Amino acid sequence: MTTPRTIEDRDAALRLARESYRAISLYAPDRAPCRIDLSDNTNTWGIAPAVEEAIHQAAIAAVTRYPNLYAAPLKEALGGYLGVASDHIVTGCGSDDVLDSAIRAFAEPGDAIAFPDPSFAMIPIFARMNGLRPMPVRLTASLDLDADAMLATEARIIYVCSPNNPTGNAMSRAAVERVVERASGIVIIDEAYAEFAGGDFLDLLSASDRVLIARTMSKAFGLAGLRVGYAAGSPALVAEVEKSRGPYKVNGIAERAALSALGDGLPWARAHVAEAIANRERLTDALRERGLSPLPSAANFVLVPVAAANERARRMRTLGVAVRPFEGLPPLGDALAATGGSALRISVGPWEMVEAALGALDASAEDTP
Ligand SMILES: *Cc1c(COP(=O)(O)O)cnc(C)c1O
Repeated sequence: MTTPRTIEDRDAALRLARESYRAISLYAPDRAPCRIDLSDNTNTWGIAPAVEEAIHQAAIAAVTRYPNLYAAPLKEALGGYLGVASDHIVTGCGSDDVLDSAIRAFAEPGDAIAFPDPSFAMIPIFARMNGLRPMPVRLTASLDLDADAMLATEARIIYVCSPNNPTGNAMSRAAVERVVERASGIVIIDEAYAEFAGGDFLDLLSASDRVLIARTMSKAFGLAGLRVGYAAGSPALVAEVEKSRGPYKVNGIAERAALSALGDGLPWARAHVAEAIANRERLTDALRERGLSPLPSAANFVLVPVAAANERARRMRTLGVAVRPFEGLPPLGDALAATGGSALRISVGPWEMVEAALGALDASAEDTP
């Protein structure tokens, strides 16, 4: 056994690493296993039986051979799902990979990327990983995109998330259209939760050839562990993302599972999306009955402002329920202002799970210091 050197070498290693990486820390939310996990907006119903079957049936060749270079069969199926030709699609190892690749493809180190505050926590991380200057732009008091402030950054890339994580609301069509019409660079619209929203911005693909719409199989389709994401855009645009992404990013088993999810598994996904939407409304009502002010959501989670969110989430965890705490969110709107930007994000799943979360939430409020 060798004993790897530690402490002193860590500083030396940091000096060897690229300087811009010193400000980056690992993305490490509390992911300790928990009996009921409503912390990451994945599909807690599971996956379609057809997808489970496809995973079991995947031949050993799916493991021993390299997968498709750029997942052509999956691009075909995703194009069918969105109603665009397959040369408008790029896939990746989760939409995280697609977003990261797109940021690298469309901006040089030193360029700026504008994104809403608050929004998807990975964006400033991907920005720094690629040497970009992160430019957060606050949402308005009504939690809408501040189109003019976004445009005023003159950023090379504008990132928009709708429905937005963690607020849950969809951005207004007027604001998104204004950004798309006037942006001087690329506009990435992250629609990770589109299936739950009852509307999307796919039509903007025909209005502009500078729009990239990112989607994922991790949320509505339940494939978070297999890492399958994709984006739609003009063929020239997605070809650049594909270059930056590199080959073999969707593994063989993941591709088979995703094909099944979009084929025989699709009715299952649609049914569970409908159930998630119903439970989301039920959860929102239940929170209101408790005198709380949950933000209206178009996603499969609800953000509810409560004081001391970290402590509340810690207590809920000891009761077997994981939710995602946020502290220090911008105090936008009355509800978030009242808690100083402290809130819990609760994912929606089967009602028994949501009910358990409500019980743990109630219990966690007792004897708050
Ligand atoms: C979950 C999430 C993703 C990441 O999805 P993966 O495909 O699992 O990488 C992207 N964007 C937003 C806003 C998300 O919430």
